[in-house]
Amino acid sequence: MKIAVQKYGGSSVATTEKIKKVAEKVIKKKEEGYKVVVIVSAMGKSTDGLIALASQITDKPDPREMDMLLTTGEQTTISLLSMALISKGHRAVSFTGSQLNIQTTSIHQKARIKDIETTKLLKILEEDTIAVVAGFQGVTEDNEYTTLGRGGSDTSAVALAAKLGGKCEIYTDVEGIYTMDPRKLKKAKKIGKITYEEMMEMASLGAGVMHFRAVELAHKYNIPIYVASTFSEKKGTIITNGGDISMEETLVTGMASSLEDIQVTLLNIPSAISSLHRLFGALAEAEVNVDMISQMLTEDGKMNVSFTIPKTDLHIAEEIVDEWKREDNHVQWEVNTDIAKISVVGLGMRSHSGVAAKVFKIMAQHGIEIKMVTTSEIKITWVVDVRDELKTIEVIGSEFGLEMA
Ligand code: ADP
Ligand code: ASP
Ligand code: MG
Repeated sequence: MKIAVQKYGGSSVATTEKIKKVAEKVIKKKEEGYKVVVIVSAMGKSTDGLIALASQITDKPDPREMDMLLTTGEQTTISLLSMALISKGHRAVSFTGSQLNIQTTSIHQKARIKDIETTKLLKILEEDTIAVVAGFQGVTEDNEYTTLGRGGSDTSAVALAAKLGGKCEIYTDVEGIYTMDPRKLKKAKKIGKITYEEMMEMASLGAGVMHFRAVELAHKYNIPIYVASTFSEKKGTIITNGGDISMEETLVTGMASSLEDIQVTLLNIPSAISSLHRLFGALAEAEVNVDMISQMLTEDGKMNVSFTIPKTDLHIAEEIVDEWKREDNHVQWEVNTDIAKISVVGLGMRSHSGVAAKVFKIMAQHGIEIKMVTTSEIKITWVVDVRDELKTIEVIGSEFGLEMA
């Protein structure tokens, strides 16, 4: 059985008119001889709308109830898309995550897919029925609803493609993966092919076009992902493994920027490795993703530690630091929320040195201050003041050839 898993993101299903157009695209795939599984996101910005509703009730919504609320977004779209398909003369059935038994871990809003029961799905595909599946959601062993984190529908699609052995197509509001978010760099170039490794870095560093876990899963199961525009026929981008030598020739494949992090600095903590263990151990236990870390000894034998974490985890860090402050009144902290994290990514960095030096040179030439830096094998990330974000993107984009000619 030839199976295609197609995913349509929020802006592609923002109105009933768009849902009807998506239905046509799905039918076209079916007419090409595929059994089609369609994953959809919530309509337009409706997930943001649901979050806003919750915040009108409380600023600390119960995580379980939040998932009860968020899963309704995708449930609206699946039923409407199924209706559209049926009204065009095709058999279609919609499924929520729990109906399909998309089993996940139990951390609300950050759940991970463990397995998917496919018997039901395969049966309906064999009957030539189109399956319309709610993205972004799953269910725990105890029958509790979960969600996979913002943008998680991509991961639902890849997981289903992996489990069903089908091809995976992600349709969105841009024509593919660009060297930089085209909203922030107007002249960004579309990339024909990008490796899983590079895309994972870009996704985790702020390229919201793909959910990080989706790329990670695709890499694990070696499933190529095709990313393209819902409403245009232009050729998109393939995310695949790096068997292609020409990919290594480019030093920097892409750039990403994130405004989602904050910089936290702890001042005057005892200068001992156990302090670092205490701090980062507690953050890890609370599942806070710490990214950049820098440490400095002070003249009076204490230590200052600076690190970045997602904005949304500030309250967790605050609890950890507060406990410490109660025990030791020397400990202080500062939080800088006005930062932008800029990164350049490229497999070529593995074999060529000098990219960091070039970044520093460009930044110095333009008088832009770098607050923190970190590098890994295929990326360089640095923090600038949020006011310098667009200027940085512009000068780096131009100097590293990330723009259209
Ligand atoms: P969907 O609702 O279809 O999942 P998203 O908003 O999650 O769509 O992702 C598409 C958006 O990702 C684009 O509109 C674009 O602004 C943004 N984006 C960020 N980085 C990139 C990139 N490198 N290439 C393409 N789009 C990007
Ligand atoms: N609707 C969810 C969100 O807005 C999931 C997704 O779109 O992938 O984050
Ligand atoms: Mg998305």
